[in-house]
Amino acid sequence: MAAIGIDLGTTNSCVAAVEGGSPDVIPNAEGERTTPSVVAFARDGERLVGSVALRQKATNPGRTVSSVKRRMGTDWRIGVDGKEFSPQEISAMVLRKLRADAEKHLGGEVTDAVITVPAYFNDMQRNATKDAGTIAGLNVLRIINEPTAAALAFGLDHGDPQMVMVYDLGGGTFDVSVIEIGDDVIEVLATAGNNRLGGDDFDERLARHIAETFQRETGVDVASDQVAFLRVREAAEQAKKELSSMESTVVNLPFLSQNAQGPLHLEQTITRTQFENLTRDLVEATTGPVQQALNDAGIAASELGRVLLVGGSTRIPAVQRHVEALTGKHPESSINPDECVAQGAAIQAATLAGARSGGGALMPRGGELLLLDVVPMSFAIETVGGVATRVIERNTTLPVHYEQVFTTAGAFQTKVEINIMQGERPMASDNKSIGKFWLKGIKRAPAGVPQINVSFDIDANGILTVTAKDLGTGNEQSITITDSERMSDEEIQAAIRDAEAYAAEDAARRAQFAKREEAHKLLSEAEERLREGGKDMPKDDKRALKAAIAGVQRYASKRPEKMTDADFENLDAAVDELRRLL
Ligand code: AMP
Repeated sequence: MAAIGIDLGTTNSCVAAVEGGSPDVIPNAEGERTTPSVVAFARDGERLVGSVALRQKATNPGRTVSSVKRRMGTDWRIGVDGKEFSPQEISAMVLRKLRADAEKHLGGEVTDAVITVPAYFNDMQRNATKDAGTIAGLNVLRIINEPTAAALAFGLDHGDPQMVMVYDLGGGTFDVSVIEIGDDVIEVLATAGNNRLGGDDFDERLARHIAETFQRETGVDVASDQVAFLRVREAAEQAKKELSSMESTVVNLPFLSQNAQGPLHLEQTITRTQFENLTRDLVEATTGPVQQALNDAGIAASELGRVLLVGGSTRIPAVQRHVEALTGKHPESSINPDECVAQGAAIQAATLAGARSGGGALMPRGGELLLLDVVPMSFAIETVGGVATRVIERNTTLPVHYEQVFTTAGAFQTKVEINIMQGERPMASDNKSIGKFWLKGIKRAPAGVPQINVSFDIDANGILTVTAKDLGTGNEQSITITDSERMSDEEIQAAIRDAEAYAAEDAARRAQFAKREEAHKLLSEAEERLREGGKDMPKDDKRALKAAIAGVQRYASKRPEKMTDADFENLDAAVDELRRLL
């Protein structure tokens, strides 16, 4: 069964799946291509989702929930008939409908899904979204960023590496992101916006204007009549949409109200110019965030390769002109702006589902594996002397496999501890340990003889499995660490700041470790020379060599974390002396 991609929006949601190689939007049971993210609890206990819920909002406002996305990750609750619902549970109701509609359309059970979130969502908001998916019975393959999904829908993952701006003006929110498209990775460099600005504000402006005109003509204030004003607002939204393609439109609302003379009908002609004058400041309010996103990304508008339009409100011609004026680029809207995020999520879902089943399943466009996520922080294991030996570098693309052969440091050692860490620092104690296990039953042997193969596998979902295998006995032991056990976003940010702050110190430390390693190599060489050629060596030379070896040993045998700068200096001098004699 196809894996689905879901754009779980503030005002509208959309679901898509890759069928026959292309990401197609799945219409809902009502035949609409997007579903209002609205949930209502009818008086008879029935739960309504989508357009039916939206339609009864005016008459049942206390039991209707909209824009719950703004509450994700908070402890907001709504109480209905003695029961409390969290934002996750309300979102799950929307997701359950999308899932049911997809199942009906695709003709089978759907469980695997990719869900999108705004790039600025924090860990809690992302986890809440994932939980909503789980509550809805979905297996959430991955949570991805909305601008990333848009870039996928536009096929940018297969083109030139470049900087792209995604300008997303939806029903209730405005987000702008600058993303960097690399060879295998799409990275969000900066994001800004206003989560209280969107198409609803344009509707409200136009509705107020229509109501004021009507009041001037008839003396009746429809804005204070909830049901009548709802009709005006719906008509205003319709007119707004029409004005995206026409220069003028007529708003017609028969029997809108009445006065002493009888029923009153509303009929007004609205021109695009009038609409633009009414909403100019709303369009201009997107300027600040656009500039901020560019600033934060550290680029000028001229460095943008492309500008993508996302969200239904970017169909407004004045919005498109404004984006072009701000960026100097003709913005692209070749893909339906209401649908491209869901389509991108569907592409990613198909890829992940394909990757999981061994790559044999669905593979959109070109058959190339699409890899998006990267390791946010290096992985290391602790080696002798408390050193963090890096095995997977930060920013490596997932999935990744790595292996290296290690050996024992002590003679006749029969077990080793594998301590897995995340962090950028050279000393184990400065990084975060995320899992440990013992590999036991190693055959007794001198130090350096046993061969222990340690492998790291991180799959596309970020799940890490570390396996240690004693190549002598075939004994192996492994551990699986999920994303949630790893470092949180905050920890990662703090660790990156730390690593930057200590960069110079750490580089010096690494150089010292390298010297120490070199000293050990030199020692083996010198000992070998003594064993093999010692007999023929003049006594004095032999004595000098032995002394030089002892000099190096004195410092090289110290635990590195205990070594002071003076010890390293002495080691340097001893190494120089030994090298002179060899
Ligand atoms: P979204 O949340 O991305 O689905 O965006 C929905 C918003 O886009 C709503 O405010 C719609 O009124 C608005 N919208 C949809 N189609 C158009 C259009 N043709 N012209 C202007 N706004 C539109």
